[in-house]
Amino acid sequence: MPTLPTYEDVAAAAARIEGAAHRTPVMTSRTVDEAFGAQVFFKCENFQRTGAFKFRGAFNALSCFDAEQRKRGVVAFSSGNHAQAIALSARWLDMPATIVMPHDAPAMKVAATRDYGGKVVLYDRYTDDREAIGRRLAEEQGLTLIPPYDHPHVIAGQGTAAMELFDEVGPLDALFVCLGGGGLLSGCALATRELSPKAKLYGVEPEAGNDGQQSFRAGAIVHIDTPVTIADGAQTQYLGELTFAIIRRDVDDILTASDAELIEGMRFFASRMKMIVEPTGCLGFAAARRMGLKGQRVGVIVSGGNVDLTRFSALLAG
Ligand SMILES: *Cc1c(COP(=O)(O)O)cnc(C)c1O
Repeated sequence: MPTLPTYEDVAAAAARIEGAAHRTPVMTSRTVDEAFGAQVFFKCENFQRTGAFKFRGAFNALSCFDAEQRKRGVVAFSSGNHAQAIALSARWLDMPATIVMPHDAPAMKVAATRDYGGKVVLYDRYTDDREAIGRRLAEEQGLTLIPPYDHPHVIAGQGTAAMELFDEVGPLDALFVCLGGGGLLSGCALATRELSPKAKLYGVEPEAGNDGQQSFRAGAIVHIDTPVTIADGAQTQYLGELTFAIIRRDVDDILTASDAELIEGMRFFASRMKMIVEPTGCLGFAAARRMGLKGQRVGVIVSGGNVDLTRFSALLAG
């Protein structure tokens, strides 16, 4: 097992991404505070560059490349927010980026990735192994592969979201973080244990894909089939080795939220807080709503806002 990143890595990442990533707003809602009988702080990564927190980890990871790696470029496989984050970071750092995406990825996402300057390689998600394609490209062309979550620089970068939150509002009693492969949660865990050590820290994943919860309880990484859920940013099948080691050590519990609860969250954010939040971005809030948090100071990471409006309205109407 490679050494785990630490809080010092999160602090170093914060210095690297400063000026490139947005320091996203922390928003509050009187309606929520009254309903919870608590003080709730939303860290709004839906307003991050490329529409999700993933820009933090991607930019940090690419900033750490040496001259030779920069010249050759980066390769990533992703159908979603990691792809766009890598493509934009690579453009800013002036290096080539190749993104391996499924042939049936939403046209908008493929277009956005190309728009950011990424070279898109399409694969068939039913017959091809995207990791194998990514690795082959890395070997043949000397590209550096940056995975979406299980990488120390990615984890450290994602942790800057919680670091900024604590910096702005001080220590909290509880923090709720969306969970897919665990890059965001493990990075936020490093920041939490340093800056707000007494806070209860919760990861929240889709009910249909609770591999993280199973792994946390079993004490070993559990693999599941690709879950069927509207939370497309958290359809991961297993946690990473690094992310799981940190989550196991630093997180208090893993909770789940149903698709219906995510839609309720999207409706709430849109109607009351005037924000478009993608289904996955609502995980933390959905679980927090069910907890008794009276009198507490609570943080919720809203992880992203990339959902096209046709899908957004269909989900709310359906
Ligand atoms: C990737 C992603 C997640 C999950 O993050 P992990 O680091 O894989 O746990 C949550 N929300 C959004 C919007 C994402 O893009």
